[in-house]
This record gives sequence, structure tokens and C-alpha cells, in this order.
Amino acid sequence: MQNETISRRDALKFGAVGAGLAMLGASEAMASTLFAKDVKFDEEYDVIVIGSGFAGLAAAAKAAERGYQVLVLEKMGRVGGNSTINGGAFAVPNNELQKKHGVKDSGEIFIQDCLKAGLGINHVELLETIVKRANDALEFTIKCGAKYQMDVKPAWFGGHSVPRTITTDNMSGSGIIKPLSEFVEKLPGCKLYKRTKFDEFVINNEGGVVGVVARVDYRFDGKLLSDDIENKTGQKKFYKARKGVILASGGFGADKVFRKLQDPRIREDADATNHEGATAGAMLKAFQVGAMPVHIDWIQFGPWASPDERGFGVAPLLTQQGLFKFGMAVDVRTGKRFMNELADRKTRADAEFKILREAPVAYPVAIGTYNAFDEQIKPAIEKGLANGCMKKYETLDQVATAYKIPTEELKKSVAKYNEGIKSGMDEFGKPVKDFNGQGIESKGPYYCIRLVPKPHHTMGGLKINEKAQVISANTLKPIPGLFAAGEVTGGTHGASRLGSVAVTDCLTFGMIAGESI
Ligand code: ADP
Repeated sequence: MQNETISRRDALKFGAVGAGLAMLGASEAMASTLFAKDVKFDEEYDVIVIGSGFAGLAAAAKAAERGYQVLVLEKMGRVGGNSTINGGAFAVPNNELQKKHGVKDSGEIFIQDCLKAGLGINHVELLETIVKRANDALEFTIKCGAKYQMDVKPAWFGGHSVPRTITTDNMSGSGIIKPLSEFVEKLPGCKLYKRTKFDEFVINNEGGVVGVVARVDYRFDGKLLSDDIENKTGQKKFYKARKGVILASGGFGADKVFRKLQDPRIREDADATNHEGATAGAMLKAFQVGAMPVHIDWIQFGPWASPDERGFGVAPLLTQQGLFKFGMAVDVRTGKRFMNELADRKTRADAEFKILREAPVAYPVAIGTYNAFDEQIKPAIEKGLANGCMKKYETLDQVATAYKIPTEELKKSVAKYNEGIKSGMDEFGKPVKDFNGQGIESKGPYYCIRLVPKPHHTMGGLKINEKAQVISANTLKPIPGLFAAGEVTGGTHGASRLGSVAVTDCLTFGMIAGESI
């Protein structure tokens, strides 16, 4: 990928570049901080939640179940943020489905898997909290009406040592968001305002968070971060939060300006898997009231995405729970494999980026036969073929012609790959021992997906403790009245998150924020 320089204009939009500087900029920002004594509140609640994804809705449900008056603010015209457009894959260490299928797992193995992918910089106490509460989070969503595929073996996602991922019935995060938002809206004392954008925190004389300023009838204009500065839509309202505010505003994978400031390799026009409202503004406001930033420049790319569809699309399902398992990925220039298709996301994205840096349009191709697809995702095959991100060919010669792959090399790679599966020794260390000799079948059809790593999950964010309290960079203690959960927080996943752990993280810490506020 080609590097782009950061313009002075981009940098000025923030007043400060990068997380560390955002903190230094805090004292300057304090000058404009709103104090409760100077504000007349329009409405009063016990708890205000910012964001209506997994984290925000779980927090709202738990707080409202305790009898609190809760207001959820969502800036977009629909609920669910990134949570509703992901693949609905939920990693739960030690789950019932694993036990039913004889899969031995433990919290310790889960943490070791996360640390390996996260390059050891994960905040382990947060992972331990996830281990303790993941099964609760699953049960809680089932209580709210979410349905999962419980009659199949758990899926085996890249970087996990064992199969531990449970998938929603409709193979989408909307399978959790829809019932969860209906549950939340029915709870007495709970309100959800869409098109209402949180703009600022209101603090008391001790620096504790006691309310927010938001705009109702806000219209997101897709101009991303500049919407904070230039978008003047909506009317200002002041909301008091007697017990505090839970920030669950998600990540910044779609924020063309901020993500590039953190990782200049990401082009402004790079398609992301995120919804367009995944911007950094709300997180930056938390830094201005003293929140401690962690790991902001670790941005994860999804190595299973396709350049032949926009956004998250259907390719991630078809590769992760399909072609990357019994199938393989090849460098089209050589016809050779170039990675362990089941490695963690960072390892695979780096391997794909290497090819694309050398030859910007030589998208690698994932290839496999029908046996590669997990039973539960077979219905998605038609979707992939219909939207064009997946193609089907009868012979390997046709595959080679379609992608301009050297034919004989491709055939040799398939044969070598299959031999590795038979002997249990894969050249890239793929865990093929458990494949029962199954690889790419000798007879077509062959299913193919071109690959491009898309910005997917932003690891960094606010430092929280095990109770989801936001830690102050000034005192190293919790900021009174400020809690956070989900992708807006940092530390849990370290350098790179394992697939299907976001759902676990967001729901677990969302629940905890609602329970502990
Ligand atoms: P998570 O997975 O961490 O729950 P999501 O992306 O699913 O995150 O949800 C975050 C939600 O927060 C999105 O729907 C997004 O539109 C919303 N959001 C982000 N910034 C604001 C803001 N300033 N005011 C209100 N809602 C916001």
C-alpha cells in the first residue's frame, strides 16, 4: 500500500496529534469544559449511556434492571453501530456447546491465545474479567431473545487453540442487537433517543462527570470527524446523570482523518468493515476530561475481507468459517501459499499487505471446495455468489485463468497443501492435525474469494478497570461518574484482537458497567 502524508490541515483538526498529545491538549480543552454550576439541565436521569451497540445496550439493560432511569443516546438514525453488521460470532471459553462436542477448553488457554495474538501487551486483568463473565453474557442475550446455532459444533476461528465460537442464527450481530434493543426499550425507566449526538461532558467542581450536552435531531452527514466541527445540525440539550455516564461509542475504524493520524499507512479512501458513524469524536471528549489513553495506534485489519464488495459484507463469513479452513490462500503472482490461513488476524493481514505493497492490485485469492464451509454458513454461499465477492469455477485451470495464476504452480500448491494435511505437518504451521485428512477436493467446483485487509477494529481507547470505571491520567484513579465499555476502551486485546472476541468483550463490559455504576 502506498503511504500518504498527513496534511497540516488534518493535524490541525485535532489541535493535537495522537493519543499522548490529546492528553496534553486536555488542559487547553479544560478552558471550554462545562461545569454543572453553569448549566441548566433540560432532563434528568440516573444513567446516561452513549452508543447503542452491544456495549451500550447491555449497559442500559443492566442499569435499568436495577431500577435506574436510563437514557441511551445514539447519533445515527438506526441502533447497533458496528455491532449489528458483524458476523454474529461470539467466542465463549468453556461453553456448553464445547462440552457437548467434547472440546476441552479453559480460561487459561483463552487468555494465552489472546496474549499471543495481542503480542503480550494486553491488560490481563480485563481478559480475566471476560473469562469470568462470558457465559453470563451469552445467557443474558438468550434471556433477551437472541437465538444461536446450538445444534452444530462451535466454529474454530483463526488464532484460537480450540473451537469456541458460537454464531447467531442469522449469522449477523443483528441477531443479538434486535432482541436486545427491543428488550431495552420495553424496560420501564429506559429511553433511547436516536439521531441524538453526544457533544460534551458536564463535570462538577471535583472533576466528576455529572451530565452531558447532546444535540437532538442531529443528522450525520458522512463527513466523519469534520462533522464534529462543521456539522451544526440539531438542537442543544443538557441531560443530567445522577449516577454517571457510560461511554459506549465504539471504535474509530471509519474515521478517515483520525485513523490516518494514528496509522499513516491507512489511506483516506480505504474501505473499512465499519459503519460510517465509527468516528473518534466521543472518545476524544473523554480524553479532554482526563481519561487515560491506551494502545490508540493499534488498528486491526480484517484479513478475510473482499475488495469486490463494500464494507463488512459477506466475505468474512465465507472465508473465516469456510475457505480459510480446509481451503487455502495463494499469491496470484506465484500460485504459492503465503500464510497460515488460520493464524491470528495481524499475522495474516501483514502477509497480505506485503503482497499488496509489492503489487497493489495483486489481491491474494482464497480457494476451496464445498467441504471447506462449515455447515451453518452454507446458506451464505449463495449470497456471496450473488453479490460477486465469491466466484465458482469447475476446474483449477479455470481458476488459474480467471486470476492469472501460473496454472502448474497452482496445481502443485494444492497437491502440496493436501499432502501436508495428510501427514499432519503444514508448511505454515496451520493446525491441520485435526482436519481428519480433509483438504481441497480433487474435483470441483472451486469457490474463490479475492482478499484485501480492511480496517476493522481499533484496539486502543480509554483505560478502564475490572468494574468498567474510566481511569484518570491525572490521578490514576477512576474518574467519578465515568464508565466505559466496548470498542471505545483499550488494553483488552493488546496489539490485535482474536476473531469473535469483540462480542464477548463488549457485552461483558457493557453488563459490568450497568451493574457497577
Ligand atoms: P460497541 O461494539 O463498542 O458497542 P458499536 O459500534 O456497535 O460499538 O456501537 C457504538 C455506537 O455509538 C454506534 O451506534 C455509534 O453511532 C454511536 N456513537 C458514536 N459516537 C456517538 C456520539 N457522539 N453520540 C451518540 N452516539 C454515538
